Amino acid sequence: MANAEPARIPPSPTARTASARLAGGAAGLFVVATHKVRERTGTPPLRWVPYGTEHAWRPGSRRTLCGEWTAGWTVFWELAFSPQHARACRACVEASLPAESRRRLAPQAAPAPERRSA
Ligand SMILES: [Zn+2]
Repeated sequence: MANAEPARIPPSPTARTASARLAGGAAGLFVVATHKVRERTGTPPLRWVPYGTEHAWRPGSRRTLCGEWTAGWTVFWELAFSPQHARACRACVEASLPAESRRRLAPQAAPAPERRSA
């Protein structure tokens, strides 16, 4: 009875998402790597492509999403970091995903709680 509270509407955070979409995909992340190589397929001029693990990097940061210092690393401004990429750093992938998606990526970490015997 005494618990009746007026409905409170929190301010909506819509303004925050707009700038993140400008570049680097939905998360605003680019590929960074310790080394680069010339692309081996296609016609010249061949692009530089990341060699080895592809980490995720947000412009303005000095570290990758997984916490590596990026000093001396190559930023691939044309490449948006993609979690689907085979060589994407696992830690960066996890750090770049919202919590809901992380759970989806690691189905073996915890058994699904939805199991119910009818
Ligand atoms: Zn990483």
